[in-house]
Amino acid sequence: MRSSLVVANWKMHGQKSEVTELLSAIKDGVKRGLARAEKVVICPPSLFLGQVEHELAGTEIAIGAQNAHPQTKGAFTGEVAFAMLKEFSCSFVIIGHSERRELFAETDKFVAEKFLAAQAQDLIPILCVGETQEQRESGLTKSIVLKQLQAVITEAGIEAFSNAVIAYEPIWAIGTGLTATPEQAQEVHATLRSFLAEIDQNIADNITILYGGSVKANNANALFGQADIDGALVGGASLDAEEFLTICAAA
Ligand code: PEP
Repeated sequence: MRSSLVVANWKMHGQKSEVTELLSAIKDGVKRGLARAEKVVICPPSLFLGQVEHELAGTEIAIGAQNAHPQTKGAFTGEVAFAMLKEFSCSFVIIGHSERRELFAETDKFVAEKFLAAQAQDLIPILCVGETQEQRESGLTKSIVLKQLQAVITEAGIEAFSNAVIAYEPIWAIGTGLTATPEQAQEVHATLRSFLAEIDQNIADNITILYGGSVKANNANALFGQADIDGALVGGASLDAEEFLTICAAA
């Protein structure tokens, strides 16, 4: 069901004491009704999932992971499996983040495998798609994001999107302080939704599509005011409780 969702991607940041401090400020804000998003999701580094599970117990804040390996077990040194995430009460997992695609050479096909492996463990994949600055300047934005989306539809089938989230994350806006204007973001979100609608109207109407790329307290309202932007995937600003709660309040 289409819902307002704000997802914190902590990336490779934090230490035990900071996790406790940040979560306690977020829990407090959520308890005081500061976060109006229907769902707030925290995606810490995997190593902190046990601590986060413990500290969020009894709250409505959901837990997500930033990555996992599609195999269920085996000789994959340094990796974790989706089934392991389930054991730490994860309900979401980020798939195909541009940092994984670019820094760890993840292909569209591998991303699709992960998408399926996540769903096989009843985790909701948050599928990231997005273009580089160069691709945008060459007028390739729509074809790039639709190719990334199609790669998953081909492997998983359109029905798989009845229980998935999409995040449009222009690569040039991630961690750079450059944000897509609300109109630029809306244009891509509408493209994604109408592409899905051509295959299945019901899925298109119900899927949650997040925007990610330097979302901050001071631009969240304008972004969330767009018809096809349902929430945000937040990197840098999710490490500051006040900033993050302000974004959650705008959703
Ligand atoms: C992200 O990591 O998905 C992201 C959008 O980062 P930032 O908000 O820092 O641009």
